[in-house]
Amino acid sequence: MNTGEVVRAWGRILSGYKPSLSIEITKECPLRCPGCYAFDAAHLGGEGSLRELSDFKGDELVGKILAIVDAEKPLHVSLVGGDPLVRYREVERLLPELEARGVHTQVVTSAFRTIPAEWSRFKRLNVVVSIDGLQPEHDERRKPATYERILKSIAGAKVTIHSTITGQIAARPGYIEEFVRFWSERPEINKIWFSLFTPQVGATGEELLTAEQRRFVVEDLRRLRLLYPILDMHESLINEMLTPPRSPEACVFARTTHTISADLKTKITPCQFGGEPDCSQCGCIASMGLAAVGNHRVLGPLTAGQIFFASDRVGEMWRRMKKPFAGTSEKQEEAAVFTILEG
Ligand code: SF4
Ligand code: SF4
Repeated sequence: MNTGEVVRAWGRILSGYKPSLSIEITKECPLRCPGCYAFDAAHLGGEGSLRELSDFKGDELVGKILAIVDAEKPLHVSLVGGDPLVRYREVERLLPELEARGVHTQVVTSAFRTIPAEWSRFKRLNVVVSIDGLQPEHDERRKPATYERILKSIAGAKVTIHSTITGQIAARPGYIEEFVRFWSERPEINKIWFSLFTPQVGATGEELLTAEQRRFVVEDLRRLRLLYPILDMHESLINEMLTPPRSPEACVFARTTHTISADLKTKITPCQFGGEPDCSQCGCIASMGLAAVGNHRVLGPLTAGQIFFASDRVGEMWRRMKKPFAGTSEKQEEAAVFTILEG
């Protein structure tokens, strides 16, 4: 984001909007990954499961998504699922529309289907391919989106690799480096990102990292980022994995992102995981990245996070007060908020 976009994001927060929007554009996915939070019974807060929601296709899906984007005017949109490439034709129509609106777009996929090389023409698009470890473990968990299929799907394209580190991976010294080495040698890869597995409150199982494994992974990532610049994770972001936000209220990512499910009505709260995620064990790269920005001192002892939380409170008040301003444009609304603050 450039300075102008940061000011725009701040303006959106002050006027009571969230600058980031995440849309589960379909409930369908050809994979059945263990540990998938989208199809977890808790995802919709106990109100049924994602597979039971209605979803949309074709003109209806494209039109409804653009209407939401035009109403909320986010700076960043994530198209997720299910797998958004199940609605491949609709995504093809949405990408130029979002680019024309100046929106940064992220498509998160298993790459079970080809990612067109021509998508590299979009300056604000990031295609993120989810990969669960090295080939033997990944293929077992994520068939039919196996390594072989992914390598075919991304040929000629530019993508970011995202991998979630589980307890099983953290228990194997050298594993993360082998993964980074394999993918860093592929010409299609722009960046590599890691998250740590984030459980629901009270969950147990091998996927969860112990505190000792978490410390080991953090040390390993700090070392690897110096050896492999393609590992696009700042040290301050990695450090946040040792002290995740205490609660959704303290999570800048959850507070700045509006997540909508496949019926385009149901809100996923408190963050993209839904249900009751265990913030104390969070390792989501987006949350850690914004926590690092939040803890950055911008004015004496004042952090960006303190300014954000104060601005968010102003935004919430403004949303309640603004009914008399209904019909005003985005710019007029932001100007009104800045004027009130100056006064
Ligand atoms: S590809 Fe994603 S949405 Fe589909 S089952 Fe796997 S984790 Fe869940
Ligand atoms: S992203 Fe992580 S820290 Fe933020 S609300 Fe969700 S689980 Fe909690």
